[in-house]
Amino acid sequence: MEVSSQAVIGRFFKLALITAGIGAVHILTLLMSWYIVISDTITTTSIEGYVIAESLYMSIGGGIVCGVALLLSSKFSNITTARWLIGATTLVGALLAIASPAYAHFMIIPALQAEGHLGIGIFMSYLSAIAMMVPAVTIIATPIRVEVIPHTGPYYPGAPAPIVEEAVELTHATEIPPGAICGICYQELDPETTSMCSNCQTLFHKGCIDLWVNLNGTCPSCKKPVLR
Ligand SMILES: [Zn+2]
Ligand SMILES: [Zn+2]
Repeated sequence: MEVSSQAVIGRFFKLALITAGIGAVHILTLLMSWYIVISDTITTTSIEGYVIAESLYMSIGGGIVCGVALLLSSKFSNITTARWLIGATTLVGALLAIASPAYAHFMIIPALQAEGHLGIGIFMSYLSAIAMMVPAVTIIATPIRVEVIPHTGPYYPGAPAPIVEEAVELTHATEIPPGAICGICYQELDPETTSMCSNCQTLFHKGCIDLWVNLNGTCPSCKKPVLR
């Protein structure tokens, strides 16, 4: 499908908006229970995501970076620049978001050395962060084919000159090979009244070729337009 550059930028904006929206949900998962410590069979303590400082910063940072990508998406008219800047920014945001539950999961929770199990919050955090990756990767990976609108109007200064078929001239032929005949009527030529095509060097009676060019505008031999 061919689309205009405005449509491509519009699509980037939508994808950045989706990423920022999921990013907001991702930040909210910090309020949920990420780990449940079981002190004894009855007493449990819930650890929310925001309690882990690193995760708090990474999740909020990821959300902010995706918000920046959203702002960037309305600032560009050049598709290639927009694609890489918006794509890279959303991707960084999504990676920060993934790093947040991963850091808690593999660094903080094992260090607690507390009996327990992962809470729903950390799964929601993973899920939302992975969901942020999808539009980010889409921005970078989507092939862009931009419609090239052919120029049909009057030429503007500095535009490449339009291609005009090279015109040829009729010249008076001074040297006529013995036995040469007219390219139109196949009769013998007279040195006084012989014309020659500047392109194909075919010889004609002046009267024959003038009549022909008046009717057709081209050399009967090489078909090029003749200047009159
Ligand atoms: Zn002739
Ligand atoms: Zn010719």
